[in-house]
Amino acid sequence: MVVRMRHNRSQTGQHRAHHALKAQGLQYCECGAPKVSHRACPVCGRYKGRVVLDLAGKAATKAAKLAKKQEGNKSEAQK
Ligand SMILES: [Zn+2]
Repeated sequence: MVVRMRHNRSQTGQHRAHHALKAQGLQYCECGAPKVSHRACPVCGRYKGRVVLDLAGKAATKAAKLAKKQEGNKSEAQK
C-alpha cells in the first residue's frame, strides 16, 4: 500500500458504513411457505401459480440413488 492510498479513520468509517447486509425480503407462496421473490417455491415447486419444479420426481430420484448407494456399501462390506 502506498501513502497516496491511505485514508484517515473518518474516511474508512464512511466507506464501511455501507457494508452492512440487508435482510432478504421474503414473500409468501400460495401454499403458505415463505419464499424469495422471483424464485420458484422450494416447498411446492410453484411459480406464479404454475408448477415449474418436479419436486416429487426429484425426491424419488434422490431416494432411489441413496438406496442404490447403500446397497453398494452393503456388498462392499460383505467382501
Ligand atoms: Zn409453495
